[in-house]
Amino acid sequence: MTAPLLHCENLHVRFRTQDGEVLAVNGVDFEVRRGDCVGIVGESGSGKSQTAMALLGLLADNGVSSGSVRFRRKEILNAPAEQLNRIRGSRVAMIFQDPMSALTPFMRIGRQLCEVLQEHTAMSRREITARVMEVLEIVQIPEPKRRFEMYPHQLSGGQRQRVMIAQALLCKPDLLIADEPTTALDLTIQAQILDFFKSLKKRTTIVIITHDLGVVAGLCNRVVVMYAGRIVEQGPIEEIFMGPQHPYTRALLAAVPRPDWDPDKPLPMIGGQPPLATRLPKGCSFAPRCAHAVDRCRQETPELRGRQHLKACHLDLPQ
Ligand code: SF4
Repeated sequence: MTAPLLHCENLHVRFRTQDGEVLAVNGVDFEVRRGDCVGIVGESGSGKSQTAMALLGLLADNGVSSGSVRFRRKEILNAPAEQLNRIRGSRVAMIFQDPMSALTPFMRIGRQLCEVLQEHTAMSRREITARVMEVLEIVQIPEPKRRFEMYPHQLSGGQRQRVMIAQALLCKPDLLIADEPTTALDLTIQAQILDFFKSLKKRTTIVIITHDLGVVAGLCNRVVVMYAGRIVEQGPIEEIFMGPQHPYTRALLAAVPRPDWDPDKPLPMIGGQPPLATRLPKGCSFAPRCAHAVDRCRQETPELRGRQHLKACHLDLPQ
């Protein structure tokens, strides 16, 4: 079997804060193969975004990462800034939740996109303009020539998100990491962007980070579920959706509206709150919220076990 495109092994991320050390990511292992679309799912604070930031060397100044991240067989975790800059601009691209934070407000869209290619390629001016127009068409921006001359604030939220995706695609990256790419958009635009991601799967390998399991349905082929800095379940999408084994994954799935959902009835919520990363409970971090918890759960941390479909739970719950 060929080596994975991205291999993340025993990844830890710690932050030094005034309240003490925060362990945001606690021993995460997963891999992404070429052509995969992997969803990393979990509530806010589960460590999913910090996992992505650590992969690309984008942690805040008080963050420290350890473990191993190999991209195309080369170790990149804590690699020199120059090497990471090269990888980020060309081989791996990231899309953030808020396009305004990634676009320069006082620079025209076309110029921002051209600068990416000027920095990372040896293309001529004419080739750069042609590639930018091509990518604006790929992301289905209406009237791309007109948008080329506009500033970010002159575009709608959905159009800005498409421009950010265009920026990410310019250098034909091997891997696209999208952190909550639809969260800031209204429902109709969310659906359009998700449809667009489906078409993107033919062009590149994708990791999509989201709090919503519904987003990964129909888009991803594999899912990684995170809770309190650890992976609690991962596997092929059909198995996770048809036979979730971890109580947390089951609770997340129960909160996804189904086609026959009665909007007058509230969706089931997961009771309680995730633990503070500065005060993780002993044993299984999900125990305080888990209806199935037994004494062992409060003493021993469950390991992630399995082959294709892995779970970190002491119990084998009936389906
Ligand atoms: Fe619940 Fe125990 Fe499984 Fe944790 S290990 S998810 S507390 S049953």
